[in-house]
Amino acid sequence: MKTIGIIGGMSWESTVTYYDIINKEVIKHLGGFHSAKILMYSVDFAELEANMKNGYWQGNAVILADAALRLERAGANFIVIATNTMHKLVPEIEKEISVPILHIADATADAIKRDGIKKVGLLGTKFTMTQDFIKDKLVDAGLEVVLPDPKDMELINDVIFNELCLGKVLDSSREEYKRIIKGMKLKGAEGVILGCTEIGMLIKEEDSVLPTYDTTIIHATAAADMALA
Ligand code: GLU
Repeated sequence: MKTIGIIGGMSWESTVTYYDIINKEVIKHLGGFHSAKILMYSVDFAELEANMKNGYWQGNAVILADAALRLERAGANFIVIATNTMHKLVPEIEKEISVPILHIADATADAIKRDGIKKVGLLGTKFTMTQDFIKDKLVDAGLEVVLPDPKDMELINDVIFNELCLGKVLDSSREEYKRIIKGMKLKGAEGVILGCTEIGMLIKEEDSVLPTYDTTIIHATAAADMALA
């Protein structure tokens, strides 16, 4: 079994879910007393959140590349960045390490394509929804991406940073997300990507009129599969 190097803490609540899913997936395949070989470097999210707010992405690249290098030196065979948004910095991180990064958007595109879906909604931070680091991978995989309108993007982003990343799960926000997903269905989406690792705390399959693709579940499952391959 390979050793997984997780860069976690963005936020810590969703990193807990990664740990849980990866171990359960390993048990599903190997049974008995087996558990995953995991190294984790959990960052202080306050530093990264402040850098994002100030547009100081280079600061986050330095923190995350350092974390990845420490994991590699400790024996990680590949790296899992347990957040969608920080995948913006994959090129900078890759420059510093020689082990591969399991990209969250590759794993997500694979899962969607396995279901034969072609047009998919994307929910995430405003960085994830408005920039190309996730979308391009989806489009390259042959998927068409549906986005919320700009006002709803603000709402989705505010719920992530002002509520979910602080551990707050509000019914009123769930209703707004449900409304936005309905709107994506009207625009022709056949599924919706929960493209922020905390959205699964708010939206479950039964809350959505579209099949959900929860990037936390997909990425963690793909990490376990890669460790076992
Ligand atoms: N966990 C979130 C994501 O998947 C947002 C937090 C962050 O900015 O890393 O994008």
